[in-house]
Amino acid sequence: MQIFNDINSLSDYVAECKRQNIILGLVPTMGALHDGHLSLVQKAKENCAKVIVSIFVNPAQFAAGEDLEKYPRQKEEDLEKLLSIGADVVFCPSASDMYLADHATNFVLTGPAMGLESDFRPHFFASVALIVTKLFMLTKADIAVFGEKDYQQLMVVKKLVSDLNIGIKIINAPILREEDGLAMSSRNVYLSEKPRKIAPILYKILMHIVEQRAKIKEMADFDKLLATAKQELLRAGFKKIDYLTIRDAKTLQNVPQLLKNRQRLLVAAHLDGVRLLDNVAI
Ligand code: AMP
Repeated sequence: MQIFNDINSLSDYVAECKRQNIILGLVPTMGALHDGHLSLVQKAKENCAKVIVSIFVNPAQFAAGEDLEKYPRQKEEDLEKLLSIGADVVFCPSASDMYLADHATNFVLTGPAMGLESDFRPHFFASVALIVTKLFMLTKADIAVFGEKDYQQLMVVKKLVSDLNIGIKIINAPILREEDGLAMSSRNVYLSEKPRKIAPILYKILMHIVEQRAKIKEMADFDKLLATAKQELLRAGFKKIDYLTIRDAKTLQNVPQLLKNRQRLLVAAHLDGVRLLDNVAI
């Protein structure tokens, strides 16, 4: 496994792969890797000849007051995990390498970037889109794997690739969960013991709503179900629910009625100072 800490060494590697017509895959991450990330690497390996994993905690994605400083960083463990799963390259650029002092370009996004996460983290997707585009250009990857864990991000990236005619195929990877159902996340380590036991209720409630789906015909009845589910989360110990909503699975717009296999149920909720995200097909 090769480790590149700067853009030039990555570019030399990529140029050589391109000369040899090697199909390249990319898995962008912020490190603190868990099995969910490793499942993305595995999926990439099934779809390309060489897998590049990037580890970059993108400072621009974090608003003031968010957890940039305390975001878990564990490079040695990450490298060991990536070696064991058979990643070919790890790209760990510095912030100053990715953002030169005179950096002057940003994105304005609409479509699936509107609402949900953007209501609470207004600059988030523009920063994601920028860094992901840079990674696509630098790695010249043929495919990239993104997790459904960050479902809105996945749709934003797909739209970005299609709108800008970037020649890369975006592959979805399903959410990997702990045994109790909690979606794996680098931020789960922030949960103290008692809230960690409460956290799986989030997924249980999503699954309960999915089970009720067949019985419910009107959107108004769904709204009642969602309102009850929010109350249950608050009763269980969640402090604030940013959203619990059903959206079109592709556009992430509100839906007037439910169609078969066309919606996504998404939630963001605060527990013990941690913002947990989850989603399921509905
Ligand atoms: P992050 O390091 O949190 O930026 O995540 C990097 C990639 O891993 C993103 O595409 C995430 O959607 C994906 N990911 C994070 N957690 C999971 C999970 N539990 N299952 C599948 N993919 C995940």
